[in-house]
Amino acid sequence: MSDVVAIRDLTKSYGDVRAVDGISFTVGAGEVFGLVGPNGAGKTTTWEILEGLRQADRGEVFVAGVDMRKDRRKLHERIGVQLQATALFERLTARETLEVFGGMYPKHLPADDLLKLVNLEEKADDWTEKLSGGQKQRLAVALALVNDPDVVFLDEPTTGLDPQARRSLWDVIAKLRDTGKTIMLTTHYMEEAERLCHRVGVMDHGKILALDEPGELIRKLQQRDAIEFAVDGDSKPFGTLPGVDEMRVEDGRVTLYTRELERTLTGVFDDARRRGLLVEDLHVRNASLEDVFLQLTGRRIRE
Ligand code: ATP
Repeated sequence: MSDVVAIRDLTKSYGDVRAVDGISFTVGAGEVFGLVGPNGAGKTTTWEILEGLRQADRGEVFVAGVDMRKDRRKLHERIGVQLQATALFERLTARETLEVFGGMYPKHLPADDLLKLVNLEEKADDWTEKLSGGQKQRLAVALALVNDPDVVFLDEPTTGLDPQARRSLWDVIAKLRDTGKTIMLTTHYMEEAERLCHRVGVMDHGKILALDEPGELIRKLQQRDAIEFAVDGDSKPFGTLPGVDEMRVEDGRVTLYTRELERTLTGVFDDARRRGLLVEDLHVRNASLEDVFLQLTGRRIRE
C-alpha cells in the first residue's frame, strides 16, 4: 500500500498551548484512518495542517504526493474537506449547492451521483434550509467529494447528531470506504472509530498515545472482559475477587475488569450472597475502544 499521508514530528503551538506535540504517522491508499480523542486533544489542528489551512511550526507533512512545505496550493485539487461546521446557502437546493461548488473545480462529479452516494436523492430539489441536521451533514460530505478527491477529510462528522442520523452517516462513510478512497476521520465516538476505521490513533494533549487496528488496540491493551453491575452496599471487596485486574465505581455502578471471567463472575455472586447484598442489572461485555482510552488516559473520552 503506498502512503497517501505521511507526517513526521508534526508540532504546532498556539502561544503556550502545544496543540500538536511531535506526532508521526502514515496512511495508505484506500485506508480509513481515524483520530479519536476528547475536546482539545489536537485533532482539528492536525487535520487543518494536513488540509493546508494551517502551517505547522515543525515537522514534515506529505499529503497526496504534495510536500506541504513547498506546494500547499497544489493540494486543493487532490483533497476534499468537510469542516466541523459547513455554511450552506439556505436558498439553494441540495443539487444546486453541489453544482455551484463543483463549478469551482476543473474536474467535478455530477451532482446527482453525489446525492445518490449520500442517500439524499429525494432531497435534491429541497432548499438546504429545509434539511435536517443529519441531512445537512451528509450534504457536507457530498461537498467534500465534489472534486473526486484522492483523500477525504471528515472532522467529527457525526458530532451533535441523534443516533439515527449518526447511523445513516455511518452508512454513507462505509459506502465511501468501499469506493477505495482514503478517508481521514476524527471523532469523539469510539463506536464510530471501531466500526469504520482500518486503523485508529488515540490522541490526547497533542500526542498520539496508541495507534493500531481497533481490534489490535483492544487486544494489546486490554485482553480483558468487563463485568458491570449495581449493588446496594460496599463495593470495595469486589476489587479483590479472584481474577480482578481493576475496579471502577462510577455513578453507583461497579465495573470489574478481569482476565478470568468465570472465576470473577462466580466470585461476585458468592461474595454478594455472603454479605447479603443485592446485585442488579449485571452485564458482561468485551473490552471496547472506550476502555482502551480509559486505560491510556485514566479518563472517559467525554468527561
Ligand atoms: P475538538 O474535539 O473540540 O474539536 P480537537 O481535538 O480538535 O478538539 P483542537 O481544536 O486541535 O482539538 O485544539 C487543541 C488545543 O489547541 C486546545 O487546547 C485548543 O484550545 C487550542 N486551540 C485550537 N485552536 C486554537 C486557536 N486558533 N488559537 C488558540 N488556541 C487554539
